[in-house]
Amino acid sequence: VAMYRAKADGRARVVMYDEDMHHRASMRLETESQLARAISRDELRVFYQPIVDISTEETVGFEALVRWEHPDRGFISPTEFIPIAEQTGSIVAIGEWVLTEALRQVQAWRSQLAECHDLTIAVNLSARQLQDANFVQVVSDIITRSGIDASAVHLEITESMVINNLDLASATLSGLRGLGVRLSLDDFGTGWSSLTYLKQLPVQTIKIDRSFIDGLGGKDPQAPAFVNAIVSLARALEMDVVAEGIETREQLSELRRLGGSLAQGYLWSRPRPPKEIPGWLAEEKM
Ligand code: C2E
Ligand code: CA
Ligand code: CA
Ligand code: CA
Repeated sequence: VAMYRAKADGRARVVMYDEDMHHRASMRLETESQLARAISRDELRVFYQPIVDISTEETVGFEALVRWEHPDRGFISPTEFIPIAEQTGSIVAIGEWVLTEALRQVQAWRSQLAECHDLTIAVNLSARQLQDANFVQVVSDIITRSGIDASAVHLEITESMVINNLDLASATLSGLRGLGVRLSLDDFGTGWSSLTYLKQLPVQTIKIDRSFIDGLGGKDPQAPAFVNAIVSLARALEMDVVAEGIETREQLSELRRLGGSLAQGYLWSRPRPPKEIPGWLAEEKM
């Protein structure tokens, strides 16, 4: 691109192109260093999205989703900053912070709110965390300090997280299972070899990726067959299945017809800040 432009309209454009790249690189460096300080400056927030039982539409648990409340830029999406945190390594500290905060918060709701004693909490992991030799001990300590039942803790992994080092990841996952936590295979069906990983990893829950759900309701004639196959597979393997990204009643009724059991999506709620959750739960129960 730079060469083509240089020919067409002279050197000025080439210089601008370099400046633009330089600008973006320095922005990126600034974001990286601000992200490294985000925890100590208390800028990270955990939002909670309900996971509901499809037959009753009652909330059975939440997924914790992190946000960065930047002092100048406002709320920044995890899709923007998690990849940066993964490259710089700050994801290890961020992941530990999210797990600590989410377990503490959900245990508080479990003990304080009526009929919420069995709420589960799902937390996303990242590849770096699974490669940390101390990770099982770290999780064990966080669970103990929070006072929550390990069986209420669901840790979400994706197949891309284990691709580089399947043996090490499998050992860590077995260690986590030994603590009594449950493991979920997130974004199921989007990778290259989902079935291979499903067979090799000690997971108890499959999360059907939103891209399959999006096709329900007549949009994609093949979508019901895929969802049906994943639901049947989960049932045959005695695993739970969570459908992600339910936005319409139509998608919900098709999912019911296909035998799904748990779901999550904007139809019930977007991820919410913790202060809104007790009121939201109370309203749901009315
Ligand atoms: P994910 O784990 O697949 O999380 C589900 C994403 O789908 C969330 O986006 C959620 O807000 C969104 N979602 C839920 N229901 C609907 C729906 O009905 N329609 C649509 N269009 N979207 C829906 P979010 O919060 O932006 O998170 C994006 C990704 O960032 C997550 O995808 C996960 O991969 C990553 N992430 C978030 N929090 C953490 C964290 O604490 N640690 C790590 N390692 N990754 C995280
Ligand atoms: Ca997830
Ligand atoms: Ca997902
Ligand atoms: Ca994802």
